[in-house]
Amino acid sequence: MSKQGNLSIHSENIFPIIKKWLYSDHDIFTRELISNASDAILKFKKLCDLGEVSDQLNEPFKITVSIDETNQTLSFSDNGIGMTEEEIEKYITQIAFSGAEDFLAKYKDKMDQDQIIGHFGLGFYSAFMVAKEVEIDTLSCHGNSAVKWTCDGGTTYTLSEGERQTRGTTITLRMNDESKEFLNLYTLTQTIEKYCSFMPIPIYIIELGKEQPEEIKPINETEPLYIKQPADCSDEDYKSFYHKAFMDFNDPLFWIHLNMDYPFRLKGILYFPKLSHEFETIEGRIKLYNNQVFVAENIKEVIPEFLLLLKGIIDCPDLPLNVSRSLLQNDGFVKKIADYITKKVADKLISLYKKEEESYKKFWDDISPFIKYGCLRESKFYDKMKDYALFKTVEDEYLILNDYLEKVKETTPNKIFYVSDKNQQSQYIKMFRENNLPAVYLEHSIDNAFISHIERENKEVKFARIDSDIAGTMKDENTDKSSEEKLTNLFRKELGNEALKVSVENLKSASIPSMILISEESRRMQEMMKLYNMGGMGMDNFKDEVTLVLNQNHSLIKKLSEENIPDEASKLLCAHLYDLALLANRSLSPDAMHAFLERSNQLLEMAVK
Ligand code: ADP
Repeated sequence: MSKQGNLSIHSENIFPIIKKWLYSDHDIFTRELISNASDAILKFKKLCDLGEVSDQLNEPFKITVSIDETNQTLSFSDNGIGMTEEEIEKYITQIAFSGAEDFLAKYKDKMDQDQIIGHFGLGFYSAFMVAKEVEIDTLSCHGNSAVKWTCDGGTTYTLSEGERQTRGTTITLRMNDESKEFLNLYTLTQTIEKYCSFMPIPIYIIELGKEQPEEIKPINETEPLYIKQPADCSDEDYKSFYHKAFMDFNDPLFWIHLNMDYPFRLKGILYFPKLSHEFETIEGRIKLYNNQVFVAENIKEVIPEFLLLLKGIIDCPDLPLNVSRSLLQNDGFVKKIADYITKKVADKLISLYKKEEESYKKFWDDISPFIKYGCLRESKFYDKMKDYALFKTVEDEYLILNDYLEKVKETTPNKIFYVSDKNQQSQYIKMFRENNLPAVYLEHSIDNAFISHIERENKEVKFARIDSDIAGTMKDENTDKSSEEKLTNLFRKELGNEALKVSVENLKSASIPSMILISEESRRMQEMMKLYNMGGMGMDNFKDEVTLVLNQNHSLIKKLSEENIPDEASKLLCAHLYDLALLANRSLSPDAMHAFLERSNQLLEMAVK
């Protein structure tokens, strides 16, 4: 008995469309066929539970993928519900008529929707992306004899008697020339692991005609940690799940277990990875699942971008399997998911601060770029986190903004001095320390944007780089400025710079003769211009506003202001004091460096004369 028929599709060109547009990754056929097999098993289980059928096979539910190198075929076999001839005609032949949808309509009050993966009625046809011929051999739990359906990717198919002896379905693909790679055990295993690691039914991969290991293990974990209740998971469970799922053998810092049913269903675990060193490009991985079936990685529309720095798994059965980005972009539902995740992350961080302040402080260096980035990207996140961002002081204390402001209330009210590079600015830090003045480290590339953001949101607070100003308590408020004019003229003349700004102070750190201050505003403006690559546009107007500070408490400056020093020595002194001040602030240009070294040698010679 054999019968011919036509595929009942309205468009004759469905195959080219599937091949080209349905999925961009050809390897996805494994996901589709295995999901169908898993669905078929779940459907059968359901029928057993409802008492409509009984399980006479008495073997564990499983999916077996077999590689047959001799025949160049790949087959997917399940012991699920199977199909009758009518069902094949209806579900397989009438493409785009989703059997899953039909099944749901029938059983919708009796079963959880989330157990059924396919809703599109096209997944099966993804097999034609890799096969020149597809065969279905199936025995329905309601039927007595197996049916076989074969199709070579044209618009006709053949139905004949099947060979299966036991309930279930075997789908065999005769691989096309471009897709032979999937017959390789390693490649196939990798592919199936990518999509099916957490599928609820055990999946076995075997190679026909080859010696099999004595005990084959399923390649998947049918009950991944994230679907369990948080109360049932230990720290060790979380860590080992992390190691396995992300191939990262460092321990994560901490994690958030997400578990909600209303208003949408979502489960998952987000891990905060340890950054191995400061300049590592931080890039995480968030894998999106639908009912334990992998959908995609790092989908910006679902997961707020800043969370992509984390590693994690999010399983949301309410999202379509074939996530199409353009579809997701304007989806209010998707936005809700993103908001929920953002809120959960903030809540967890805040509770960590409240309950385990020490751990929070310990993690801070690792998690701060992430939190700051989040604050910049999501105003809701900023609103929640702004009181929990820590500032690390040069005394290695970690303080929240309000506590820090309280600390500097007397010395530098509402002003936060910060260090952007602790090596370059060591001289300034030393001075601050000598004067018992606090400052904070803000050395990450995100910090510039972060502090500007705080200043915009909180008009009271001002940030100033440690080299931008001298705090009141570091100098004598009643400095005698009478020598300022003389010294200004002298330095301008000796340095040949008529525009040089000079300020005379009595600094409490008597060991420092000269230092450079750079106006915070003009420096930030310049940095912004650089960032936006506007160098060409009147950059000259935004040159650093440098002020040379001369410390009258230092003997050299005193000498320069009080005595008349011979021309040559005066020139050397002024140039050198200026260069030394510059050197404590930044590196010299090659020309300036050259002059500085030459002058140093000259001074050494003078010292032994
Ligand atoms: P979807 O799964 O999205 O409904 P598919 O094209 O993947 O669409 O499959 C169409 C239908 O064919 C399924 O809904 C199901 O009824 C049937 N089917 C596919 N694979 C199997 C299988 N392994 N066992 C039983 N039925 C299957």
